Amino acid sequence: MPIEFEIPKPLTQAQFMLKTVSEEMIRPKSRYFDEHEHEIPWDYIEFMHSAMRAMGGSSLAPRDESPSPNRRGDRGEGKRPPIGYQLIAAQIESLAYGDLGFYHCLPGGGLGAAAVYAAGTPEQKEKFLARFMDEKPTFAAMCITESGAGSDNSAICTRAVLDEKTNQWVINGEKIFVTGGDKSFTEYEKLGKGFIVVWATIDPTAGRAGMRAFVVESGTPGVKITKLEHKLGIRVSDTAAISLVDARVPFDNILGSATVEKSTSGFKGAMATFDATRPLVAASGVGVARAALEFLKEKLAENGVKIRYGLPRQKLSNIEREVIDMEIMLKSAWLMVIKATWMADNKKPNALEASMSKVKSGDVTTKITQKVVEILGPLGYSREFLAEKWMRDAKITDIYEGTGQINRLVVARQILGYSGAELR
Ligand SMILES: Cc1cc2nc3c(=O)[nH]c(=O)nc-3n(C[C@H](O)[C@H](O)[C@H](O)COP(=O)(O)OP(=O)(O)OC[C@H]3O[C@@H](n4cnc5c(N)ncnc54)[C@H](O)[C@@H]3O)c2cc1C
Repeated sequence: MPIEFEIPKPLTQAQFMLKTVSEEMIRPKSRYFDEHEHEIPWDYIEFMHSAMRAMGGSSLAPRDESPSPNRRGDRGEGKRPPIGYQLIAAQIESLAYGDLGFYHCLPGGGLGAAAVYAAGTPEQKEKFLARFMDEKPTFAAMCITESGAGSDNSAICTRAVLDEKTNQWVINGEKIFVTGGDKSFTEYEKLGKGFIVVWATIDPTAGRAGMRAFVVESGTPGVKITKLEHKLGIRVSDTAAISLVDARVPFDNILGSATVEKSTSGFKGAMATFDATRPLVAASGVGVARAALEFLKEKLAENGVKIRYGLPRQKLSNIEREVIDMEIMLKSAWLMVIKATWMADNKKPNALEASMSKVKSGDVTTKITQKVVEILGPLGYSREFLAEKWMRDAKITDIYEGTGQINRLVVARQILGYSGAELR
C-alpha cells in the first residue's frame, strides 16, 4: 500500500476550523470552568453540536467509508484511502489544543459509542449510534473501572444475570471514574437520551471470557450517579461514580454474544475498544503539549528570544536546545498517532502501535507541559496564564485508558510474543 506524505484535505480543513473554535470560543472560558468545577459549558455544547450536525458527523466512531456509487472517489477517479480515525485524531488534537477538558465535553458518543462500535453487531450500531445526529446534543460513556479493577480490568465484579422470565439482564455493581458519566446518564432537559456502556461479568467462573458490555439507557431505574470527582485537571469534564442496584436492561442490550465460550471474546471487545481509542487519547495529549509549547515560544519571542534553527547544537543557547528538543518530541508523538490511526483506518491490527502512541504521548505531554512551566518560571506558575493548568490537565493522558506502565506492558507483550499471564 503506497504511503502518502501529503496531509489529506479534510484533515487540514478540520484543523483550520477547530483552531478558530479553540482560540475564540474555548480558551477564553478555560480558566472559568477550571475554577467552577462541575458547571456545564452549555453554550459550547450546543454550538459544537449544531456545527457538527451541519457537517454531517457527531460520534467518536468514524463514518462508514464503504464504497458508494455516488461518491466521486468510489467511481474510480482518484480514490482516497480511508481516513476516518486519522480525521478524528486531528479533530481531537485541535480541540485539546484549545482545552483538554472541553474536548471531553464535545457532544457525541465518546467512549460509549467506541465500545458499541468495537463490540456491537451492525444492528446494534444502527440502533444505538443514530441518536448522536438528533436535534439535541447527546452523550455516551463507558464504565469499566471499579475500585478493585483498574489496570487489570478483567477483575471486574459487576454482575449481569439473565432473568429468563422477563428476558432482561439484571445488573449489580459499582463503577468509578466514568468520564462524561453525568451528561450521559442524567436526564438534562437540554440533552438527548444518552447511555452508558457498563462492563459486567455474565459468568464469574469464566474470568475474561465472561466479560460483556451492556448498553444502559439514561434514567434506567436502579442506576445512580453517587459522586462527581474533584480533580487535579480537566475539571470541566465530569467524572462520575455510578452504582447499579438491580438495574434491568433488555436482552438485546448485551454487546456481542450472550454465550460464554472458552475464548476470551468478552475481554477482546474491551481491548478492541482501546485499540481504537488509545491513539485518540494520544492525539489529545499532543494538542495540550502543542498549546504549551506555542505559548512558550510566543513568550520567548516577546522577550526577544528567537530560536535559531539550523545552527549547530553547541552554538545554541540552552533554552533554544530545550525548545528544539520539545519540538522533536512533539512531532514524534504525533507521527505515532498518525501511524496507529492509519492502521486502524486500513483495518490492520494496531494493538502494538495504539499502546506505543499512548505511551509516547503520555510521556511527551507531561514532560513538555512541565518544562514549559519550568522555563517560564513565575509566569508558568501563575494562574494568570494557562501554562500551569495545561501541566495539571496533561497528567491524565498518562493515566486513563491504560496507564503508561500498563501500555508499556502491552508493548512488551506484543513485541516478545508473551500473553498477559506470562508477562504481568
Ligand atoms: C479523570 C479520569 C477519567 C477516567 N475515565 C474513565 C472512563 O471513562 N471509564 C473507565 O472505565 N475508567 C476511567 N478512568 C479510570 C482509569 O482508566 C484508571 O484509573 C486507570 O486505568 C488506572 O487504574 P487504577 O486507577 O485502578 O490504578 P491501579 O491499577 O491501581 O494502578 C496504580 C498504579 O500501579 C501501576 N500498576 C498497576 N499494575 C501494574 C503492573 N502490572 N505493572 C506495573 N505497574 C502497574 C499503575 O500503572 C499505576 O501507576 C478514569 C480515570 C480518571 C482519573
